[in-house]
Parts: sequence; structure tokens; C-alpha cells
Amino acid sequence: MNKTEDYLKELAEGGGAVDISALVNHIVDDSLVLKASDIHIEPWEDVLGVRVRCSGQLQELVYIPKEYHPLICGRIKVMANMASHIKDVPQDGKAAPPEFNGVQLRVSVFPTVRGEKIVIRIFNPKARTFDINSLGFDEETLNKYVKVLNKPTGLVLLTGPTGSGKTTAIYASIGYLLEKHQNTVAIASVEDPVEQNLMWVNQAQLNPAQDFTYVSALRSLMRQDPEVIMIGEIRDVDTATIAVTAGMTGHLVISTIHSGTTSGVFARLINMQIEPFLLASSLIGVLGVRLLRLNCEGCKAVYTPEEFALAHLRTSEGDAMVEDAIEQELFRCGFGCDTCSNTGYAGRGAVTELMVVNEDVRDVVMNRRPTREIQEAAVKCGMQTLWEGGLRRVTNGETTIEEALMKVASEML
Ligand SMILES: [Zn+2]
Repeated sequence: MNKTEDYLKELAEGGGAVDISALVNHIVDDSLVLKASDIHIEPWEDVLGVRVRCSGQLQELVYIPKEYHPLICGRIKVMANMASHIKDVPQDGKAAPPEFNGVQLRVSVFPTVRGEKIVIRIFNPKARTFDINSLGFDEETLNKYVKVLNKPTGLVLLTGPTGSGKTTAIYASIGYLLEKHQNTVAIASVEDPVEQNLMWVNQAQLNPAQDFTYVSALRSLMRQDPEVIMIGEIRDVDTATIAVTAGMTGHLVISTIHSGTTSGVFARLINMQIEPFLLASSLIGVLGVRLLRLNCEGCKAVYTPEEFALAHLRTSEGDAMVEDAIEQELFRCGFGCDTCSNTGYAGRGAVTELMVVNEDVRDVVMNRRPTREIQEAAVKCGMQTLWEGGLRRVTNGETTIEEALMKVASEML
């Protein structure tokens, strides 16, 4: 039983009037214990459902009597400085309750036909590590990535779907540069939102309401003499243009961009009207990132994956590898225990794919060849693919083939 359930039980047994801030705090506390990234508070027909996202997956936390719904909404809106009397339009806000020691909550309230649904994203600085060694690189790729980060000028892009660990990877990259140079390098960032305060980095938080956008912020930033510029995300043509130009004019620029595949980043930018020759001269590396759920240490054991999953491994040159792996009992999965709330998984680990933009890749881009050819050129030059990285985690017993297929190979299926 968690704190929220305990408290509700106490109330139901005649524990007096509800203390709504205590109830909300219990929900947040329980979510922090589970290392959840988001809390969903949802009005259903006759009950309020609370679910939390742990390691990327939603799970039930507790059910709350619906009579507390207006009070909970009111309390959370007050915490996040929203207009509590407005109930029929979406609202966003932020809270950093002192009782949670540095934990920041980003709150979104959305009116549904059954009343307001609240989603709280949790930023817990203590739960995050920004160590470049934790990004799931094999040694060779890590060395290559460090080399890219050590270049004085150029654009480095991190890519992956939402929730793939791009933010963690970008902070880890900045963390590496900080560790190496400490206070001898001028690093500036423009972020939306600033998720983690970093020493020696001049971080700016966008404020579109005041017209402080990526574009206006970056234009001013250029006059601030930065050597390294971190841009939270490239979403539009203007930001892309500034990032590409800055990467060609003596700055190391690190940013993220949403793209299905690592090699697809080029097509995405060319679609934004960036000229291939500019891209080829600015972009020095693209890092694809995915997060895989890891097998729970408490209950993981040898298993033989389903044939449909093994079939994906057999389609390539990995045939003998599959039989070897089964024989050597390398495949592991979690069977479910209390530690992992019976999911079999606990925590997540990254897999990455680093495309170093060298002469060969540059040629393919300049000739406006399709994405597939960019990928092939990179693989020919020794790029370890996401799938290979995922398989390495699988044959190390760290995760299941099913998980690797779902998160890494979705584009090959
Ligand atoms: Zn377990």
C-alpha cells in the first residue's frame, strides 16, 4: 500500500475532514518513490483514476472518490499559479513545492467531458544523472562521440522520438564539456523549459508570450560571445537556419531534432529549406537515442524468446548468433516481483547510434541522395546501429528482444 491509499483508507474509516494538500502531497510522494516521470489524474464515470508513468509505461497508482476531484483540481491549480475558477479551457503552470526539495512540477490542466484532467510532469534533479558513460555507448562509439564534442565548431544533433532520452543525452554532452573545461569555456543555452540548472552554463528559458522565442533568443545570444551553444530543440526553419549558420561560424552548437531515424535528420532539415551544402559543411554528427526498459534485477532469469521475435534476428547475418545465444542462455527477462510492480522491468538504459558526418556521408548528402543511402554510407564507415546497440543489451541479458524490437526496430518492421 502506498501513502495515498493509506490516507484514503484512514479517511474512509472516519478520519475526519480531508486535508486536500496532504492528499495531493501523498500522490506526488508516491510518484517520487516510484521514480515516475508523469502523474495522470483522470476523472472517470464515478471515480478519479491516478496513473503514473514509470520507465515510460503507465501504471495505476490509486483510485480516489470522485467527490475530491474539484478540491484536488483547485489545490493543484493554486500550487501551479493558475486561475482556479476557470474550468473550461486548458491551462499550464509550474510548481516547485518546498516540501519536495528541488523537485519541479509542470502541470497541464485539460477540460474533458467528465471534468478536468490533470497531468503533472515531474522533474526530479536528484533522480537524474548526466554522465556520458551512462548513455549506453560501446567504447569505440563513445570515443568517436567525445571526438565530435571536442571539435571547436560545427552542429551536433541528437534525435529520437518523444521520451527517447534526448534531453538526458544533451545534458550529458554539456556535462562532459563542463567536466573537461570547467570555467574556461563559455556555454550558453536556450531551453524550453530549463530542466536542470547547470553550473557555468548561462541558461535562458524561453517565454513566447514576451516574444522571447528560440529565434530572438539565439540572435541576441550570438552577441554574448559563446563558444558552445545548446538549443533545446530545432522545431522550425528559422531556428534551424540559425543553428546551421552558428555551426559554421566558430561555435559548437548542440541541439535536438525530432526525427524517426538518425539518417532522416538530413531529409528533415532539407525539408526545412536548408541547402544540402550548408548542412554538409555545418553538421558534424548526429546521435540517435532510444531508451529501453531494463530487466528487473530482482526477478530476471533465463528465458527463450518467442519465435516471432527470434525470427527478426534470423533475417540478418545473425543466424548462428541466435542459436549460440539460446544455447548459452544469454536471453533474460523479468518474471515480475514486488520491486518492479510485476512488470518485469525496472529502470531504463539508453542505446545510441552515432553518425559521424565524414567525407563519404557528406558526398551522399550533397548529391541529395535518399535517406537510405545516407544510412548505408554511415554504416559502411563503421556506424554501430541502434539495432546493434539494442541487441548488445539483449545478449547481455539487460533487456528482452521484445523490448528491443518495440523501441529500436520499429522502423524496420
Ligand atoms: Zn522484478
